[in-house]
Amino acid sequence: MKRRVFLESLAAGGVVAGSSLGAPLVWTRDRDMRQRAEWDLIVLGAGTAGMPAAIFAAQAGARVLVIEATSQLGGTLDRSTGQVSGSQTVWQRTKGIEDSPQAHYADHMRINRSTSDPALTRLFVEQAPATLNWLAGEGFTVLDGDPVRGKGHDPFLVARYQSGPERGRSLLKAMQPSFEREVAKGRIVIRHETSAVELIVDARGAVRGVVVESDGRREDCLGARVLIATGGCAANPTMFADLHGVPLTTASARPSSQGQGLLLALGVGGVLRGGEKYVPLYGTLLDGELMPAGQDGSFQHDPERRPPWEIHVNARGQRFVREDHPSHEHRQQALARQPGHRLWVVFDSAILDAAPSLLGKWNRERVDAAFRDGHPMFTRAETLATLALRAGIDPQGLRQSVETYNLALRAGATDPLGRLHRPLPLGTGAWHAIRMSGWTVMSFAGISVDASLRVLRADGQVVPNLFAAGEALGAGALSGNAYTNGSMVTSALALGRFMGLRALQA
Ligand SMILES: Cc1cc2nc3c(=O)[nH]c(=O)nc-3n(C[C@H](O)[C@H](O)[C@H](O)COP(=O)(O)OP(=O)(O)OC[C@H]3O[C@@H](n4cnc5c(N)ncnc54)[C@H](O)[C@@H]3O)c2cc1C
Repeated sequence: MKRRVFLESLAAGGVVAGSSLGAPLVWTRDRDMRQRAEWDLIVLGAGTAGMPAAIFAAQAGARVLVIEATSQLGGTLDRSTGQVSGSQTVWQRTKGIEDSPQAHYADHMRINRSTSDPALTRLFVEQAPATLNWLAGEGFTVLDGDPVRGKGHDPFLVARYQSGPERGRSLLKAMQPSFEREVAKGRIVIRHETSAVELIVDARGAVRGVVVESDGRREDCLGARVLIATGGCAANPTMFADLHGVPLTTASARPSSQGQGLLLALGVGGVLRGGEKYVPLYGTLLDGELMPAGQDGSFQHDPERRPPWEIHVNARGQRFVREDHPSHEHRQQALARQPGHRLWVVFDSAILDAAPSLLGKWNRERVDAAFRDGHPMFTRAETLATLALRAGIDPQGLRQSVETYNLALRAGATDPLGRLHRPLPLGTGAWHAIRMSGWTVMSFAGISVDASLRVLRADGQVVPNLFAAGEALGAGALSGNAYTNGSMVTSALALGRFMGLRALQA
């Protein structure tokens, strides 16, 4: 992590000025630390993790204050696909599926090659059964046919993956009545359109509360414990790039995912980790060069749904992966090794005419218009060399890749990369290329915590009274160097609930 950049981000956010990241900030100022904490738990963020934390803490008898930056409840559940994974669920039982948290743990670690945090992974898979069954009891239902082994990511060995008919919103709908009941009883007080901007720390370095800001006014809220559940930083291009070492290519995360909780933890001596575990999803169509860009179409690269007709090359013109490799992880990891995490899908007129749509709902007219009207990611040319030059691909490398691909196909020989689906050789009519870019929906860097969700300093000591859950912990800790099925929504819900249950003892 670059220290300079973080000083700048902290100062730019108006959180602190002239601070040093080396030493914890001690914001005792003139506060009277003998004052009694007004709240047993202050939850920062009423999202996927914050809602169950607040509900279960309130049900356990705690006085809970929730600080929420927006006017809404549910955070990223408004756009998340909401796919969750867990063993011993009511849906597995209905289908007679034998499963256990141990098997879930082993399967999760198999998919991400043991790159997620073992203690946090174990904790969330152990908490997942009770959490998902609680949601089922609150009215959460799953799609017909669920649970399944996988959808869009490498599958589990056992069917333990499901989502509701309204995606993430189905989960919010299940939690909202309980949350509102606790608000009505006065056990949860929620402050909307209010942001946590600073932690209050006593002379021992223990967190004693939070400074919140609303309408330009700041106020102290004192609490016995503070939970950072403010989500990730995948809507903050500067912070994302600093923590992951790659640009944020798309604006796919909720705009509230600014990483403010990460800065709060840093400000009291917490440490961030996991940015190096970033891996891109295998390519999407950007609507322009300026990043983060919008997504213009969904690239159909899952060979199970649409076997590839085209070849995929990097900026050197080289094919870098077996395009029809069944593992999403394999293809994602291959893209992660390519310059700029970019690939070009290269094909000819014959393939354009014969193949099913490469871009989800795009019809042929729209594709033709994109080539004709100069969509920035689309290039068409009469010769392969001109195509390469216009698209920004090395012409020699591309020529060699096309020749090698065609030679093996025409000779009936095995493809050099082992590709099986090779319907047509390349070279009939005009040449076409569409540039796709690696992307993500979440941030991998997050706050370092122990297995009780207590925020840790660089020396391994806890920051007293400070906890974190959800994407604030980073996908690197929960999902690892991979997109492991349901690991983010499930962990946010399960660890949020875990925190709430233990709020009075933690
Ligand atoms: C398009 C998309 C699809 C996804 N699909 C899946 C999926 O299928 N399965 C999966 O496991 N994961 C998925 N994810 C990831 C997953 O949804 C998120 O990681 C998870 O919902 C984050 O939960 P959270 O509680 O950490 O954050 P959020 O749910 O975003 O909640 C954070 C809350 O904190 C508030 N907040 C932020 N800053 C402050 C502040 N300073 N003060 C007060 N409040 C603040 C925000 O307004 C927000 O309400 C997806 C993500 C996206 C974007």
